[in-house]
Amino acid sequence: MKIDLHEKVAIITGSTEGIGLGAAKQLAQCGAKVIVNGRTEQKVTQAVDAVKQAVANADVSGVAADLSTAEGCNKLIEAVPAADILVNNLGIYGTQDFFDTDDDTWQQYYDVNVMSAVRLSRHYAPAMVENSWGRILYVASESALNIPGDMIHYGVSKTALLGLSRGLAKRLAGSGVTVNAVLPGPTLSEGAQAFLAQSAEENGISIEEAGVKFVMENRPSSVIQRMATVEEVASMITYTCSTLASATTGSALRVDGGVVDFIM
Ligand code: NAD
Repeated sequence: MKIDLHEKVAIITGSTEGIGLGAAKQLAQCGAKVIVNGRTEQKVTQAVDAVKQAVANADVSGVAADLSTAEGCNKLIEAVPAADILVNNLGIYGTQDFFDTDDDTWQQYYDVNVMSAVRLSRHYAPAMVENSWGRILYVASESALNIPGDMIHYGVSKTALLGLSRGLAKRLAGSGVTVNAVLPGPTLSEGAQAFLAQSAEENGISIEEAGVKFVMENRPSSVIQRMATVEEVASMITYTCSTLASATTGSALRVDGGVVDFIM
């Protein structure tokens, strides 16, 4: 199987670290012209360099923009008016009890995790339809299906992405533009490592071991019984963005290590 994305412009949101950076490297490896994004020029420059280091002759550039606002989305759109592939990877997460989660926090999760994807999809999809080819992807989470009791605000935002993905796939029916959601399980990104750092320190164990502890205690239905790597999740993203995945649309594709206990 060969994935060739030469001539394709791919935007990956929130891609200065973690799953997004992993996906940027793999898409660049497949020949795509990759645009990375984060909030600061410094982090974006570092990410561009990281992609260049990982992939010889990578065609990569970056846009610093806070995509949690309409202005930030417009900044990206002005810099890159059209794209063939849009990976809505940006997402924030953290545990917080429902009764301690105020309106501002709910609004922040909705703005970052959902509205960034709504705004960018609304802008980039029409030109994809005109070209009769495009890929729109939402990086959701197994938490969209298994809403964690201690992350309800997060889970709800990810369930919203599944609705957006399925609905937009139908709206773009027959156009050649596919729309899908990828559902990672616990994944050892930089964000997750920060989340695990306290447990690692308190228990005198490595981050990887803290990851296994987290999975066994909090996601005991995991079949792989460990965190996934960023590369394992990025591979699903890259395949779904490829020309090979042309009959996959309106789907919720799990890379959750078997955490969600469904056959389908
Ligand atoms: P991460 O925290 O490691 O990286 C997040 C990236 O987003 C960084 O590049 C950061 O600079 C950028 N970012 C944050 N706020 C931004 C903003 N307002 N505008 C632009 N960029 C911004 O993330 P990750 O763990 O790789 O997660 C990526 C996606 O995968 C998220 O949507 C997350 O919800 C989802 N996910 C992650 C896991 C996991 O265990 N890591 C599990 C399931 C789903």
